[in-house]
Parts: sequence; C-alpha cells; structure tokens
Amino acid sequence: MARRDQDQGPRPSADTGCRAGCGACCIAPSISSPIPGMPDGKPQGVRCAQLDVDNLCRLFGDPRRPAVCLAFDYDPELCGNNRDQAMALIAALEVNT
Ligand code: SF4
Repeated sequence: MARRDQDQGPRPSADTGCRAGCGACCIAPSISSPIPGMPDGKPQGVRCAQLDVDNLCRLFGDPRRPAVCLAFDYDPELCGNNRDQAMALIAALEVNT
C-alpha cells in the first residue's frame, strides 16, 4: 500500500519511504473488510482485485476503499529494504498475530 498522498492512503512517496510499485501490503496480509471485486475481503497472500498492473491502488479517493488501507502507513520495520522482505515480514506478522 504505497502512499502518494496522506489523504489518499498508501502510494509511493519519497517523504514516507514507501517504494513505488511495491504493493506488498496489498498482497501479503488478509483484509476482512469488503473490497470492490472481493466482497468477503481477501485472504493472506492473495493479490487485491484493486491493485493495478503497476502495483498501485485503483481506489484512491474512492469511499469504497477499506478503512484499513487508509490507516496503513510506511513502516521501515515492516517494509524492510525491498519488496521481498516486505512480503515476508508482513506475512510473518499476520501469522504471529
Ligand atoms: S483496496 Fe487498494 S490499498 Fe487496499 S489492499 Fe486493495 S489495492 Fe491495496
């Protein structure tokens, strides 16, 4: 969930350290809230239906975007040094919580 704009939620930003085109937090964790195209949310490790080919969210500024996505922010301990690390760290967090 890379952050472009504080109001829009995760999008790539040099200010936050979020990596452009990462998308790990839109794949690795489960989301229990309904998402357009995924009315029951999404399971862990499944790509969100709203993640585009550039690994950016199609729902920025859209009220249908889950609140959990708005709340998520770049965290160096969770996002690691690259996308593979982010996928592993987020998946591990999910298993351990
Ligand atoms: S709705 Fe957008 S921000 Fe939320 S998981 Fe899907 S692609 Fe990512």
